[in-house]
Amino acid sequence: MFRRIFGLPAENRAEAARFLVEQGFQAVVVGAEETPESVRLATDAGLAVWACRAAFSVRGLPEAQQQDLLARDPDGAPQRWFTSGCPNRRELREAHLAAIRHLANSGAFAGFMLDGIRFASPNAGDGFFTCFCDVCRSKAKVLGFDFERIRHDVGALRDDLGARSEPLAQSPAEVPPALERWPGTAEWLRFRAACVQEHVREVRAAVDEVVDHTGTRFQLGAYLFTPGFAALVGQQYDALAPLLDVISPMIYRTLEGDACLVAEWGASAHLKLVAPHGEFSPTDVGAEVAGARALLSSEERLVPILQLADDLVAETSRAALAAGAGGLDYFSYRSGSEPYVVRAAGVGP
Ligand SMILES: [Zn+2]
Repeated sequence: MFRRIFGLPAENRAEAARFLVEQGFQAVVVGAEETPESVRLATDAGLAVWACRAAFSVRGLPEAQQQDLLARDPDGAPQRWFTSGCPNRRELREAHLAAIRHLANSGAFAGFMLDGIRFASPNAGDGFFTCFCDVCRSKAKVLGFDFERIRHDVGALRDDLGARSEPLAQSPAEVPPALERWPGTAEWLRFRAACVQEHVREVRAAVDEVVDHTGTRFQLGAYLFTPGFAALVGQQYDALAPLLDVISPMIYRTLEGDACLVAEWGASAHLKLVAPHGEFSPTDVGAEVAGARALLSSEERLVPILQLADDLVAETSRAALAAGAGGLDYFSYRSGSEPYVVRAAGVGP
């Protein structure tokens, strides 16, 4: 069974890599700060090393440039989300492509995991109701979307949510049908999905050029939102799947943070998009995996990424496998995580 984990402790790295191999892990994913040299110990231990980097990050850019690149709400106000800018800005797309080409050409990595390959989520608050910048206006025109209708209806949705006391829908999956009251909002979600697909196609083409060059097949995967939330941020599973070698929905049972199930559901409840959700159980995690499985044809590799430091890591792993996961990924391996690694590794064939 394919087992992968995000992160490698900085200290005793060779020992950590050997430990993962002993526990049946085949691959590790590392962040953008790692170099071909810094991951060599993991490769030497027999692990396939994948790289990962946030897609549309404005981090590190001069403040004025960051402001210019930020997504815009229906009133034209800049909104920051996940330290990212507008996914349609050519500067951000090119920086992303250049980073992936560089990593792929280094020969040190087995593949790349797309992260943040989306528009702003409910956890961005007002930033969710984006993007209406001039670049998006032009893009919408080219792709045949009615930009003004989208802008008007997304503004109307934002105002409606701000005024209501009861949630619009009970769960994320029920949000798209509930949005039919504002036709422009359904078009908004389709526009988001079209833009994300366009960029993933650009990445796939860049990655495939590297394959031709080296003769080694460089893999491309993506960390995606759970199925219900994916539709809200522009991640359409069935459209992205043919472009990806691995699909990894992020299904952390208790972990908080942008893109995490707990935070996104909580933020969606705060926005009055959905009703609040209590604690997530291993069964809930399994249900999310089953939801992803239902959107994919059987050949596609579904490898959900689960929370490692979870007292129920074994139970969630079993639930994910029973629901159709083709392998398992975990977030994240830090110094001291070893007991959880052992519990996770004890599950499955
Ligand atoms: Zn934009």
